[in-house]
Order: sequence, then C-alpha cells, then structure tokens
Amino acid sequence: MKSSPTHFFFKHNSMLLRLLIFILGICSINRSNFCCDQLFATPATNSITPSSFSAIESSLKQLKIEGYFSFKNFDHVAKDFGNRYHFLPLAVLYPKSVSDISATVKHVFNMGTTTELTVAARGHGHSLEGQAQAYQGVVISMESLRAPAMRFHQGELPFVDVSAGELWINILHESLKLGLTPKSWTDYLHLTVGGTLSNAGISGQAFKHGPQINNVYQLEVVTGKGEVITCSEEKNADLFYGVLGGLGQFGIITRARIALQPAPKKVKWIRVLYSDFSTFSNDQEQLISSKDSFDYVEGFVVINRTGLLNNWRSTFNPKDPLFARKFSSEGKVLYCLEVAKYFNPDETANTNQNIDALLSTLNYIESSLFQSEVSYVEFLDRVHVSEMKLQEKGLWDVPHPWLNLLIPRSKIHDFTQEVFGKILTDTSHGPILIYPVNKSKWIKGTSMVTPEEDIMYLIAFLSSAVPSSTGKDGLEHILSKNKKILNFCGKANIGMKQYLPHYTTQEDWKVHFGPRWETFARRKSTYDPLAILAPGHGIFKRVSLLQQQ
Ligand code: FAD
Repeated sequence: MKSSPTHFFFKHNSMLLRLLIFILGICSINRSNFCCDQLFATPATNSITPSSFSAIESSLKQLKIEGYFSFKNFDHVAKDFGNRYHFLPLAVLYPKSVSDISATVKHVFNMGTTTELTVAARGHGHSLEGQAQAYQGVVISMESLRAPAMRFHQGELPFVDVSAGELWINILHESLKLGLTPKSWTDYLHLTVGGTLSNAGISGQAFKHGPQINNVYQLEVVTGKGEVITCSEEKNADLFYGVLGGLGQFGIITRARIALQPAPKKVKWIRVLYSDFSTFSNDQEQLISSKDSFDYVEGFVVINRTGLLNNWRSTFNPKDPLFARKFSSEGKVLYCLEVAKYFNPDETANTNQNIDALLSTLNYIESSLFQSEVSYVEFLDRVHVSEMKLQEKGLWDVPHPWLNLLIPRSKIHDFTQEVFGKILTDTSHGPILIYPVNKSKWIKGTSMVTPEEDIMYLIAFLSSAVPSSTGKDGLEHILSKNKKILNFCGKANIGMKQYLPHYTTQEDWKVHFGPRWETFARRKSTYDPLAILAPGHGIFKRVSLLQQQ
C-alpha cells in the first residue's frame, strides 16, 4: 500500500500526535467542567517511551481478533461518573468475542516484565475515581462484547446467561418478556453486570436476597494470564469467589449466569418520615428481620430542603392529604424510610392488607405517609428519571465526590450523631442514603469486605459538586466534609469499611482488607501474577523490570 501523507504523519510523528490528542482531550473533557481535581493526571509510575509506544501499537494491530483496536479518540474512556480522574490509555479494544479479550490479555502477559502495559475492563464507566481507566494501557470496552446473546433457562431455578458488558436495564426488559426478573438490584440500572459484580451490587432488596454477587450461579473469566476459565461454587470456586467483589483484580468477567425469579407487575412504593434516628433505625431493623416484610427497604436523610435530588415526596401522594398539609419538613434533619411491596393486580386487596399490617407496627410521623403505585419497571428504573432531569439541566456530568460507607450496627448511633449533628448540619449536596442490611444472608468467601457484625448500615453520600464553585457546593468543600467523616470514623474506631473503596497506597488497602489481605494478595499472584488487570484501583503495581532500572 502506498503511504499517504496522513499515514506518513501517523507513522513518524506518533509522539507528537499523542501529545496533540492529549491536549485536545484535556480541552474537550473539561470544556464544561473546570473543577476536576485530577485533570488528566499522569501517575508518576508507568511511563511508556515513544518507541515502545509504537512497538506496542503495531504488536496489538497484528493480533488476530474479530473486533478492533482504536488508538485515538479515547477521551470517553478517560472519563467516568466521578468526573475527577482522567487517565488517557494507549489503546481501546472493542471486542466481539471472548477470544478477543483473551488474546489481548495473553499478548500483554507474554510481553512479561519488559513493559508496564496494563489492561482495564470498562463497563459503563460509572466508577467514581478512575477505577475503570488504564493510564497508557489498554482499556477494554466491555459493552462492545455482545456475545453470547442473552440465553434464558426457565426450569425450577431459572437463570439467564449474559455477556458481562450487558446493562442491567436490558436484562430486566428481556427477562420480563418471559415473566422473570433478577432478584437483587442496584438503585440505578444503567450499569454493566461486570461492573456491579466487581463491587457487590447493593440495594433495598439486599436484606432479602443478598447483594447481586449472591445471585450468580456461574461466571466465565479471562484471567491476567489470558486463560478463559468457567467458575462457580462447584468448579474453580477460588476464582469464582475471588472475582465476586474482586474489583476486577483477578480476571475480566466475560459471561455471567444470573439467578431469576417470577416477576411481579406492580409495586406499592411508600415513604414515611421520622424526626428521631433511633425510632427510624429500629423500624428499619425490624423490617429487615421480619419474615413477611416488604420487598425493598431503604431510607435516606433529609437535611433541610436540598433541591431536586433530595425531593422526598416528588411522584408521591399523601395517604391523608388533610393531615399531610400540616406537615412541614423545612429546617430539620429528618429520616425518610422508603419501602416497596411487589404484587400482581389480582393480589391488590391482599397486598393492601399486608401493607397496612406492616405499617401499623411502625412509629413514623403519622401525617408523613406518602405512597405511590407504579409498574415494576418504573420502580426499578426510578433513578433514570432523575438522570434525565439532571441531563436536561446539564447537571449530570458534574464531579461526583461520592462517599459510600458500611457502618456496623453497634456504631450507627455514634456515627449519625457526629455526622448529622456536627459535620453536615446545614445542607447536603445530594441524597444521603441510609439503610441496614443483614449480612447473614450474604454468601461468605467473596472478595467483598464488610464490617464484622451481622447487621451493618450502608450510608451513601451521593454528592454532586457545582463546577468551578469555590463555595459550599464546590468540589473542595464537599471533599473536605468527606475527609472529616472518614477522619471521625478512624478516630472513633467505628469499624467502618468503604464500599466502592478508594485508596491511594497499598498500606491503606491492606488496612481495608484486614485479615482478608493475604487471600486477596494470594489470589492476585495466582490469577494475575504480573498485575496487569484493573490498575485504576492502585492496589498492586504492574510487575515490570522497568521500575527497577
Ligand atoms: P465501570 O465503572 O466501568 O467499572 C467498575 C470497575 O469494575 C472497574 O474496576 C472495572 O475495571 C471493573 N470491571 C468492569 N467490568 C468488568 C468486567 N467485566 N470484569 C471485571 N471487572 C470489570 N452500586 C451499588 O452497589 N448499589 C447502587 O444502588 C448503586 N447505585 C449507583 C447509582 C449511580 C447513579 C452510579 C453512577 C453508581 C451506582 N452504584 C451503585 C455503583 C456502581 O455499582 C459501580 O460504580 C459499578 O462499578 C458501575 O458499573 P459500570 O458498569 O459503570 O463499571
């Protein structure tokens, strides 16, 4: 083939081109947002020289794959929901098959210690701190992996086999066509199977079914050596448990077998308020422990009125409008219990009775009972409605300095007294979820780390920062509040564990994993001995001779 001027430019000026892409990337990613705290940060470790850059590029191009690599236009994979960390990769793989992924990882593994090249699986990119990014590495766009097509099994224990790049919302829609549904969810369904299974997937159904990692029968995984391994509780169990909640450290999930159950058609969705935390948490704990309870139990804190995201009664009607009119939520810290009961239209009368019985055992503020009846899909996809509203206002792609904590039950009062009494007194910058889950329902041996006790609270500070603000709604202010909360947890010995954890040193990771660190590190050296996978977490350093030179 005759070399065109563009081809010549590409070949001989690849470094210059990369610099240009890098600068353009900075400009385009931050056009609408100048307050990111890690603008295309370049970690001090891992620097690939221009000559090895093009050598790697041409070696990747020679791989026989069904999909393709892209060596440009990768701004989007250097961005995530957190909108604070932006690491440009060297290439993006758009795989068509599992063997594309296996061939790529195997190729990087075979390069051995002569390179610092890493590989990150990227689901829907809704991480918060660059966890799905790979600085100067290869990012695998898991959503491109459409194979295998969703395959349902409708026996006594129904399940569906899905590609790990599938979004949960698509699985819901397809399952419903057969009258089936997955059991355990996240609050937001536009996330991939691989992305949530790498963490846990916790929502208001977790007290009943455990998190999403509890509801998986089998996985197919490409390890850090490029091997394709099928694993389950019975077969290759060490890898199976390791990968669940494993932060992508031991392998790339390519297929998952998800447990299903019969789907309901409708949902009674209820919110009630409390002014006292003890009463609120007692009721929550009672609900997650009783046998015939609601199907979903969550809750959130209302600090003053905090706008659209925290609008606790939008889309709800008061049970008793006269009573409700007397109720004012302004100026106080309130706790909102949110519950839901699933049902089919022919069970309406029974369901109403059942709900009345359950509500009669609770001690909420009487005039604050708000309810709504929606379809099952509307209920599960509820956060997407907020997303659309925020997208419209240009408020979705802002920095999200989220903080998710798991607090043991015995310390929840100390925690709330300090945080809602002293640290966050006047306002919050997004919803603050707070609800207990019963860990005895969770399978043991996964990589997910939780506090010691059986009952723990998930507390999610889901803040949005106003771009370029230096005030209370700005990124720095919110991050400093997060830091205060974390410092308090440390000083008061709360026994907290971060969910969707983020640490910057291996020492901190060791503390996070505690006694489980040894198993975690052992699994890493077994399944990803060169530490090629999921570099964005910063847990392990890529094994490379270059670091020693
Ligand atoms: P990505 O951000 O793309 O990846 C996340 C991590 O998983 C990365 O380390 C990546 O390398 C790894 N990974 C991705 N795919 C694979 C794979 N196939 N194999 C191995 N590793 C892989 N979480 C909850 O538990 N409950 C909630 O209710 C909840 N609500 C949320 C609501 C919103 C609006 C957002 C933005 C997030 C929410 N999350 C919730 C957090 C969410 O579960 C995680 O951020 C999840 O990782 C996002 O999935 P993703 O597909 O975007 O993954």
